[in-house]
Amino acid sequence: MTEFERHAYDVVVIGAGGAGLRAAIEARQRGLRTAVVCKSLFGKAHTVMAEGGIAAAMGNVNARDNWQVHFRDTMRGGKFLNHWRMAELHAKEAPERVWELETYGALFDRTPDGKISQRNFGGHEYPRLAHVGDRTGLELIRTLQQKIVSLQQEDFKETGDYEANLKVFAEFTVTDLLKSDGRIAGAFGYWRESGRFVVFEAPAVVLATGGIGKSFKVTSNSWEYTGDGHALALRAGASLINMEFVQFHPTGMVWPPSVKGILVTESVRGDGGVLRNSEGRRFMFDYIPEVFKDKYADNEAEADRWYTDPDNNRRPPELLPRDEVARAINAEVKAGRGSPHGGVFLDVSSRLSAEEIKRRLPSMYHQFKELADVDITAEPMEVGPTCHYVMGGVEVDPDSAQSRVPGLFAAGEVAGGMHGSNRLGGNSLSDLLVFGRRAGLGAADYVAALGSRPSLSEEDVQAAARLAVLPFEGGDGETQENPYALHGELQQVMNDLVGIIRKGEEMKLALTKLDELKRRAKNVVVEGHRQYNPGWHLALDLRNMLLVSECVAKAALQRTESRGGHTRDDYPQMEADWRRKLLPCTVEDDGITVTEQPQPAMRGDLLDLFEYDELQKYFTPEELESHRARLG
Ligand code: FAD
Repeated sequence: MTEFERHAYDVVVIGAGGAGLRAAIEARQRGLRTAVVCKSLFGKAHTVMAEGGIAAAMGNVNARDNWQVHFRDTMRGGKFLNHWRMAELHAKEAPERVWELETYGALFDRTPDGKISQRNFGGHEYPRLAHVGDRTGLELIRTLQQKIVSLQQEDFKETGDYEANLKVFAEFTVTDLLKSDGRIAGAFGYWRESGRFVVFEAPAVVLATGGIGKSFKVTSNSWEYTGDGHALALRAGASLINMEFVQFHPTGMVWPPSVKGILVTESVRGDGGVLRNSEGRRFMFDYIPEVFKDKYADNEAEADRWYTDPDNNRRPPELLPRDEVARAINAEVKAGRGSPHGGVFLDVSSRLSAEEIKRRLPSMYHQFKELADVDITAEPMEVGPTCHYVMGGVEVDPDSAQSRVPGLFAAGEVAGGMHGSNRLGGNSLSDLLVFGRRAGLGAADYVAALGSRPSLSEEDVQAAARLAVLPFEGGDGETQENPYALHGELQQVMNDLVGIIRKGEEMKLALTKLDELKRRAKNVVVEGHRQYNPGWHLALDLRNMLLVSECVAKAALQRTESRGGHTRDDYPQMEADWRRKLLPCTVEDDGITVTEQPQPAMRGDLLDLFEYDELQKYFTPEELESHRARLG
């Protein structure tokens, strides 16, 4: 029997982005011995890329803002498919989490009177995003890391060992979760550098692995986003919900090809940028959906006035939720009114001075100057939709972040439910902090209540090791496959057939192709050995991407309506009946099953926060009947 490096912890947090770090801080503060594991270098998680800000109803710029308004905006943005309890906790707790970051050392931009500054973003009624220029994610990660270091210094004082209670395992990939008697018992993985295997014994695991964007061809996501946490959860027996909802951010770079998909932050529109087609028309006025007509300006004069007088004018339609803007851009390009490289024009130079643009949007200025040779202070950018975020993820209990599997928790982008069918910009960074903390707390409570620690099965450990080295063994003798080629094919299938606009026939074709890819993936072969072998890393990631892509395609085929990040050409309407249904995905024998499950009904006092007229747009007549009765 092969011997492996072994460690024992109370909780293993997989992922060192915002969610993982916040969970680890909480777990350590509650007295758990905590390991944080990440594929990338410590500090390099995807969260670093976040630009625009953290949404929290602090009311610093407009005192009318409060948690109830944030809750309403979040539910509207998600087209009422959000788990209401998650949206409630998020809206209530986000301000506290932002202020807490300041106590950890974060330096946010300020208002003239010294408060944390807040900026406008799509779908948020008031300026709500706390920010640090357009590099907010960097500051968030820097601050959380600093807090971790300070906790390690405390531990050193007491024990003489910095890593006694909180240790980071960087450049380390988890490939399997280990269970015993139906509950979590640990995790198995390898050092990316040496390829050496490691076993963690731990009664609790927090998944904080982020998203799935690398399954799509054009994406803003970093290399880490291969859906590992989603797949680990599935294989451990947890369920995923809302997987049909994938957010295509409306503004990614479209040119040159080497940078296609890189994000252009929504702050450009929040700070006054306008979208125009090749005819120079501000086309978003043509795409305001019925449900938002009373909230968005239908003419340029009113939209322009809103920047200086937001209380007496409606918002510009460029600030509609992302799904609406992405679909509108897609339609303009399809209608032949796109920019030379297949996008539309986004112009901030006509609204702000060059100096102001460089001050408010420094990364965007440099990004375009260096990558596309475009000076955004003088000319428009070319932009188009890019796969950005997955609303779907591990089904969790809103309060404790625990999945269906005892001991398995999830927070951040890998968790599902909070954002419903579409996430509002800025609501991810706040989600990471609110539910990262709750996952750490949930894990601590779980471990404290355990009678005995689960013990690992040696057989399971050896099986995980055998599975991990399969790509070196040459498949079953059929044609050998290359992981890079298969990954390229997968990305093309997802982009072309399960992308921004979907059709039943195309998704059926996608599922046939995914089956074929899954079969071929069994014959993936990698050269060389386990040290520094990116081909091997990808071969292991591919297993996860294929499983998660199947969830997306199957759930998307089953949902015969259009809502948020799921647009069907063959079912263009939003249907009130579908709002009451979730489509959990589970795995059996390596195949995905999608079932139907009722969406938990919203608590009455929260329902009362909405006008009856608005609810009529989303709810079934029977649901409204009981609401009307309560209103008296
Ligand atoms: P991440 O920060 O992605 O961290 C995932 C971690 O998991 C990483 O450490 C990774 O190494 C690790 N990991 C993954 N798989 C494994 C494995 N198998 N084994 C070990 N470790 C693993 N949201 C906002 O709210 N506001 C914004 O302004 C904003 N701007 C954005 C800009 C860009 C360009 C992008 C791409 C996204 C933006 N978002 C924004 C979204 C937001 O950044 C992400 O949703 C969020 O950072 C996800 O954080 P997370 O903690 O869930 O995961």
